[in-house]
Amino acid sequence: MNKQLRKAVIAGNWKMNNNRAQTRELLEALIPSVKDAACDVVVCVPFTDLETAVAMTKGTNIKVGAQNCHFEAKGAFTGEIAPGMLTEMGVEYVVLGHSERRQYFGETDVTVNKRVKAAIGAGLTAILCVGELLEQREQGITAELVAMQTKIALNGVEKADLDKIIIAYEPVWAIGTGKTATADQANEVCALIRGVIAELYGQDAADAMTIQYGGSMNAGNAAELVSKPDVDGGLIGGASLKAPDFTVIVNAASQD
Ligand code: PEP
Repeated sequence: MNKQLRKAVIAGNWKMNNNRAQTRELLEALIPSVKDAACDVVVCVPFTDLETAVAMTKGTNIKVGAQNCHFEAKGAFTGEIAPGMLTEMGVEYVVLGHSERRQYFGETDVTVNKRVKAAIGAGLTAILCVGELLEQREQGITAELVAMQTKIALNGVEKADLDKIIIAYEPVWAIGTGKTATADQANEVCALIRGVIAELYGQDAADAMTIQYGGSMNAGNAAELVSKPDVDGGLIGGASLKAPDFTVIVNAASQD
């Protein structure tokens, strides 16, 4: 499979971190340090920082993402944010199905699928997260589990819309734990997901699909992870909060 057919994407998931002043400070450091990146660079910030981030990154190579969105366009859904509300602000990406949403907020494969369709329908690019729990890996069902998550999340998504989807393989046991999947483990599952895309949509679609790895990626391990043939960049939590570390990761992905 040809890695040159797709662009690596390094996306920072800031989670529930950074107020407005901290957002300004981090972006002031990042804007000059990643300006020559050969990969795409995205920062997924809390809803309350979106306006600041969109304004500050205008005219730069940094794109802005949210960390979730609802599947309805409007209505009685207290606390939720519609995809159209994000695009209206200039937001271009949204993380969907993150394991923290699945674990703490009752997100299921079915609601992730609804959110994916609503997000891409509104013009957002969805960063769709899939990944197994430690018990599932130990049980030997990683391949089935991740294939099922991918298939359900993409149910009803047309081939023509796949350019609005990035898949992030995030083994749950590696998120925020400091335990990274080995580069070979990451590559194996990213390749497996690519195989699922080929089965569903054809080899051309699989070759074009950006599939990231996420889970304790940092300045020290990024180069090896993103050098793997099926790993097209990363979704980065903790290390995206430090401009020097995030920059090292962006530079690593710019080499491939
Ligand atoms: C994430 O939140 O998607 C993530 C990968 O976090 P961390 O890099 O901190 O493991």
